[in-house]
Order: sequence, then C-alpha cells, then structure tokens
Amino acid sequence: MFAVGNWKMNLTLEEALGLASGVVSQVSELGLGAESTLQVGIAPPFPYLHAVGTLLEGSGVELVAQDCHAETKGAFMSWVSAPMLRSVGVRRVIVGHSERRKHGGDDDTRVRAKLEAALAAGLGVILCVGESLEEREAGRQAEVVGTQLRAALTGLSVEQWAETVIAYEPLWAIGTGKTASPEQAGEMHTQIIGQILPELLPAGVDAPFVLYGGSVKPANIDALAAIDGVGGVLVGGASLEANSFGRIAQGCAPGGGGVSNDARSE
Ligand code: PEP
Repeated sequence: MFAVGNWKMNLTLEEALGLASGVVSQVSELGLGAESTLQVGIAPPFPYLHAVGTLLEGSGVELVAQDCHAETKGAFMSWVSAPMLRSVGVRRVIVGHSERRKHGGDDDTRVRAKLEAALAAGLGVILCVGESLEEREAGRQAEVVGTQLRAALTGLSVEQWAETVIAYEPLWAIGTGKTASPEQAGEMHTQIIGQILPELLPAGVDAPFVLYGGSVKPANIDALAAIDGVGGVLVGGASLEANSFGRIAQGCAPGGGGVSNDARSE
C-alpha cells in the first residue's frame, strides 16, 4: 500500500523540514523499501522540494511534487516543469488534483498532457480523479470517473503503467471532514479495478495502486485501508502533523489494516 501526504500550500521552510523529519522517524519503524510492501511519499510545496528531498535521502520516503507544467521549458512564468522537478530529486508528481482542476483550469486534456510530460521526464505520476457532489447525487460518479481515467490513461505503454498510481478522491470529501462510506469507496474502487482499468491495461499488466483520498485521518484509516481495492491513501489535512500521518502510514502497513502489493489486483 502507498500512503502519500499532500501538504498543499502550507508551512514555512522550517516547519516543512521539521515535519519531514517527523515523518521519517514515524515511518522508520514501519520498514520501507525492498523488504516492505508499504510505500510512503510526501508532497511539499515547490520551494521546499530540494531541501526536503535532501533530508529524505536514504529514508525510503518518496519526494512527490504537487503539480507540473506540460511543457519542458520556456516562457511560462511561475510554472515548474517535470524535468525541473526531476533535477531536484522529485520521484513522482500529482496530476489532476481537484484543486488544480477547479482553481487552475486543468481539464482532462491538460491533465493528460501533464501526465505525459511527467512520464517523459522519468517521473512517476499520481493521477487524481473524482466526482462532485452534484454528479454523485445524479448517480453519475462512475461515468465521470471513467471519462477522467480514459482521457488520462488510454494508450499508455507497459512501462508507463508501471509508473502510474491512481487516486480516487470524491470532491465532496476533500477537506470537508466528510469521508466516503466504506460502501461508497468500495463500490468505486471495485468499479475502477474491475471494469474501467481492464479496458485500458495492456494484456498481462497488473492494475496500479488505486488510492482513496478525502478526509483520511487516524480515526478512519483502518476502515478505509481494509476496503477491497484500496491500495493506499492520499492525505491532505491530516498529513500536516507527523504523528497523525505516521498513524495513517501504519494503517497502510502489512498487518495494519492494509493489503499487500500482491493482493491489490486480486
Ligand atoms: C487531498 O488534498 O488530496 C485531500 C484528500 O485532502 P484532505 O485529506 O484534507 O481531504
């Protein structure tokens, strides 16, 4: 399972370094890397990536970026490209987060372009998809998520699939304190893994991790991690405190409610 903390636009540099070292000590006891099925990542704001990445060296915790531009370089003032992220030690980038879709105008076409740019730069991706409250109330959640996934992932190569992680984040659960019920999350994860991904995956390729995101916290991690098809979590607010994120990572560790990598596509 994969636990990722998304720090969004929070913290000073000093606070970011303090939180990163807190996360490293919290997860060191859980055992990361080749000997474990648990993966952990943190996504600090851009200005702190290099310093946090230096602190993470040798810890097994992945350095994740919150976004990238689709172009590699040029007159795109204030943006950050995928090769730039790679050059400061980033391993993976989040694309299609609902806050980028809502406030940054990222539509499915741009999300696809960013995903391709990240993969071309040698980065992994976490592709976020999810429906709004209005879409869920209209019973359109599977159609909306299916459209987002097809737009971003159709035609990826075997190598590109190996670098791809999906995060299902119902918009109405992000930062609201409302979590999808185990039934709602389970139904969507089953739909993604059982119906949508088989259409898209080349023969013989395992389904990627499908994370759940939306008000994940220590109090609900064990229930969420136990849901069939949940391959980990993308965490916003509760990742801003080391003990809280450590408890969430623990819930994703083998024996902590989470399933192993091998079981994720069964
Ligand atoms: C997120 O930002 O991806 C998220 C899920 O936030 P929160 O955990 O705060 O709902």
